Amino acid sequence: MPAQKFLVVDDSLTMRRIVVNALKSLGYETVIEAADGKEAAGKLAAEGADFVITDWNMPEMNGLDLVRWIRANDQFINLPILMITTRGNKEDVIEAMKARVNNYIVKPFTPAGLKEKIELIMKSV
Ligand SMILES: [Mg+2]
Repeated sequence: MPAQKFLVVDDSLTMRRIVVNALKSLGYETVIEAADGKEAAGKLAAEGADFVITDWNMPEMNGLDLVRWIRANDQFINLPILMITTRGNKEDVIEAMKARVNNYIVKPFTPAGLKEKIELIMKSV
């Protein structure tokens, strides 16, 4: 298993636990966390990450604005981003894709579903 460092961003501690546990069950042990987009941007700037999994609806800075911030930074232009959200309608998916997320998964999801999306992204970058 490659030593990938994941950044998991969600304002729900429970949701972060679910994602972190799913990642660990898939063999990804190196995971840092942030509770909103602002904290995530700070951690990315300070220590970087290889893969970002982010919620959409969060206080301070939401997931869409985080994605825009990431893509506006040359050093993160190719950073893989998976968005996890309850917002599964077509307009929202299009907006997220326009902001250049690599893929999108709608809650609730299974560890297998998460794994499939992560692997799809890893194959494509
Ligand atoms: Mg949220």
